[in-house]
Amino acid sequence: TPVVGVLALQGGVAEHARVIEALGARVTLLRRAAEVSGPDGPRVDALVLPGGESGVIDRLSRRLGLADPLRETIRAGVPTLGTCAGLIMLADRIEDPAPGQHSLGVLDVAVRRNAFGAQIASHEAEFRLDFDASRSGDASAPSLRGALIRAPEIVAVGPEARPLARSGNAIVGAQARRLPITGVAFHPEVSGDPTLHRMLLDQIEARGSVTGRSASRWRRT
Ligand code: GLN
Repeated sequence: TPVVGVLALQGGVAEHARVIEALGARVTLLRRAAEVSGPDGPRVDALVLPGGESGVIDRLSRRLGLADPLRETIRAGVPTLGTCAGLIMLADRIEDPAPGQHSLGVLDVAVRRNAFGAQIASHEAEFRLDFDASRSGDASAPSLRGALIRAPEIVAVGPEARPLARSGNAIVGAQARRLPITGVAFHPEVSGDPTLHRMLLDQIEARGSVTGRSASRWRRT
């Protein structure tokens, strides 16, 4: 059984755990650096960075020494999904960071926080998958369902990433071109849409079959 590490410093952790477990994978909550990686490399088969308050998650992750292991683990090719604040954590650039806010800088996009209005403007919606993304087979559904809760917008996609999902003219999801890194502005886990979590498990499998490492690790866990 693959083990998916969910960053559990703050925010919507339980909803992700529920979707992942319903798909048959195991969840481990990440609060310490040693839970992310060790001398022998990554300790999880995939990573989820949940929504919440990105300024808080960033500050805690740096204070607790998680930011560097997370960045290294993601750069080592461990499949990663970030939702909302998790997308902000992944982004290379934050247009309007909270004072002192950093990000992991692993996804070549720029985000603007709270682009869809205040908490009271939160709503569920259907998001169109980008044509290229749906053709590439990374996500198999024609659209995704999710909740926009003080969500960021992806205001620029650089050459190392490509758009994944749109809402009207706004880009609300992107994927790295070379690594299995996916960030979405909305919360599929709140709507119970398992498409992206299923994709994450598929990415583990693809990686395992290429390297043999993840696959043999799951059998032992
Ligand atoms: N507005 C939050 C932030 O800037 C994100 C909200 C969310 O994750 N639902 O971090």
